[in-house]
Amino acid sequence: MPQKSFSSPRKSSYPKNAKSSYLLSAGPELQEGSTLTGSFEDMEGLLLGWFSSKGNAKAVPKLLLPDSFYCSTPVLSEFSQKYGFHIGERAFSISRGKGIGMLLNLLESSGLGKLLYMPSIDRVIIRSAASQSTKLRLGFNVHAYEAGIIAGFLSSHASKNITAAEVSCVYNGSDACQFVSIVTEGEPSAGNQRKPNLGTKFIRESVKISGAQDKTEGEIHFTMLGMLPFIAEAPLESASKLMFLAGIEAAAGYKENYQEGLRRMASFLCMDIAGMGRKGTKREVSIHFGAEVSSSGFMELGTKAFIGFLSKHFNSSVTLSKRKAKEGHVIAMTFEGV
Ligand SMILES: [Zn+2]
Repeated sequence: MPQKSFSSPRKSSYPKNAKSSYLLSAGPELQEGSTLTGSFEDMEGLLLGWFSSKGNAKAVPKLLLPDSFYCSTPVLSEFSQKYGFHIGERAFSISRGKGIGMLLNLLESSGLGKLLYMPSIDRVIIRSAASQSTKLRLGFNVHAYEAGIIAGFLSSHASKNITAAEVSCVYNGSDACQFVSIVTEGEPSAGNQRKPNLGTKFIRESVKISGAQDKTEGEIHFTMLGMLPFIAEAPLESASKLMFLAGIEAAAGYKENYQEGLRRMASFLCMDIAGMGRKGTKREVSIHFGAEVSSSGFMELGTKAFIGFLSKHFNSSVTLSKRKAKEGHVIAMTFEGV
């Protein structure tokens, strides 16, 4: 993919009026007139939020949204590395020369946990400081996006072309995530990885893990940064379908307790459930998107996941309405006769 193909989200070619035609192509149509388009904002606010959060040294690596979805197809995986690079460069440019410690703080607060930085003559290794065991064996390394961030940050820091790859991952049978960065014109090898694909287990486990604990502020900013390219760039259509599928998959795991499933989905997507209940013969679920999440089209993707989940659970058509809330927006989804 040529460098030019990932322009700044600020200058995105995302067509403002074309969202619902393909955004909802994998699911029920939006009701006429219910526009969910957000405006694009630059990423500085999210980056600054990420910077200002304290790294959580005890954080257990979690499958965050960008990791999960970017690994689901080879195209998205390649894209995620490149977009991560872009974010790493921008992070360096606003870090005011505070150096590598800043990169480590950022990655730690993203949920990778305490990291070791090991430079040598021809490479830099960044590795989880402690063993992080997990029962998951996804068959591929998930942290392509983070590898891109490392490469971008280090390239700016060293003023050289540095590439990075995750060579071992806790979600691929290792007890630590390890990233190797080298100065090169080519790509460093990420080992013999199985081709990633969109497995149902992958999505269910992502929702389970990501939604099981409250996110730190840093993780929230990081997750939002990871979602930016979904809405600003070409993968929007893929991302949109994946969000819908993620909702369906998540629903399958919470047949008995869908409210818990919804709560976890909301946490996974950095939003809140504003209400759940009956309205006459109808069921209504509303979700609150905070000020940060209300921007940049996050609402489209988040709503899509909820539509997938609830359509599967209620087996009923949905009507959407959107209103401004004190901070951000509320989108209400109404399901007929369930
Ligand atoms: Zn990893």
